[in-house]
Amino acid sequence: MAATEVLYEDYVDELKLDHDDVDSLLNKVKICSYLVCCGASVELESYPVHDRDFRTGNSGLQLSVGTPLLRALVPFFYMDEANPIKLRGDYATRQAVIEYAGKELFEVTIVPDMETGNENINLEFDTLIAAIPEEPYGMRSCCYHRAGNPCAFCILGTKNVRLGPEDLVEAYERISIERGEEPQVLLTGGTSSARDRGLSKYVPYVKELRSNFGDSRVAIEAAPPQDISCLDTLIDLGMDTFAANIEFFSTEARDSLLPGKSAIALDEYKDALAYCNNAGVRTFSAVITGPEDKAETLKAVEFLAGIGVPTNLLCLRPFHGAALQNHARVNPAWFLEVTNEAVRIMDRYGVLEDLSHTAGCGSCGACAMEMNLYRISRNAKSGDDYSLL
Ligand code: SF4
Repeated sequence: MAATEVLYEDYVDELKLDHDDVDSLLNKVKICSYLVCCGASVELESYPVHDRDFRTGNSGLQLSVGTPLLRALVPFFYMDEANPIKLRGDYATRQAVIEYAGKELFEVTIVPDMETGNENINLEFDTLIAAIPEEPYGMRSCCYHRAGNPCAFCILGTKNVRLGPEDLVEAYERISIERGEEPQVLLTGGTSSARDRGLSKYVPYVKELRSNFGDSRVAIEAAPPQDISCLDTLIDLGMDTFAANIEFFSTEARDSLLPGKSAIALDEYKDALAYCNNAGVRTFSAVITGPEDKAETLKAVEFLAGIGVPTNLLCLRPFHGAALQNHARVNPAWFLEVTNEAVRIMDRYGVLEDLSHTAGCGSCGACAMEMNLYRISRNAKSGDDYSLL
């Protein structure tokens, strides 16, 4: 896809919404895809100002799109008055409607933000997410940003982060009490040039959390270590899920869009993910659609499925500050089509179900579509026709 101006109306046209049956399930699925790829114009009364930790930008308005089975996260960076898909309502009542061309399509429910007590820990749906510093209360960065060759979609940057293991425990306790159930946890952060590629920074957080909350489910999203035994401490501490994101598949895309990170060979991902699976740790890997053609993206999904690893299939979201910031937003109809094929591959290899059991982003899927399709197909009543999904 070329770096062209977004033609939102064309994207909506290509979704082929059913204008006679506007609140059909299929329309809701299509709008979910639109929201995650392109965002929306947001007109919400009493919507609070955000001072969130944007990390790679996946912070936003959390929506249940007409049914609890469908989730979408409208990134804060993709709230734009020029967008013809509008979300209009009242944050205080949690109710809103999706409109297109002045016509109401269907109702959605807003999942309220919850204060975690720390500006660097966000709650997105069921998951506490934090991008942690290299040392507690120290700098957060990545060796590729420091070397001037960050991944082309990344806006992590370098920042002093007031966050330590005890803050995570406090946030976890607070959210558990408020929600009446324990959340999941996803920890991420930059890569390091050390042999563990930065895995050791997660250890004090996992140790502290699991010694206070023995059943807590923690996902670590990180690069595979050069020395695979560097995973052992986290495995022994009870890490639930390890996500090592290959991002792209073709050598061309990996070299150009991951100018630093592409030095980590796909085989290193394969070995680390297999090592975790053999140790009983769940795994997934994020793949980004958009810059590569569909065939390459599906090869990535098949490569991962072939080693027993499900894919969290994301659309490219080139936020301001990333090298790809001017890249066109991904076409939602195309994203849905690619996800549909990816879901079939994962189902064929029996790994789609595994994704639903992972901790962190994989099982939530609000930034993607595969878990939405999974939830719908698994909840289909006999006689429902979801063959278009
Ligand atoms: S490895 Fe890439 S995506 Fe991850 S923090 Fe570093 S530059 Fe960003």
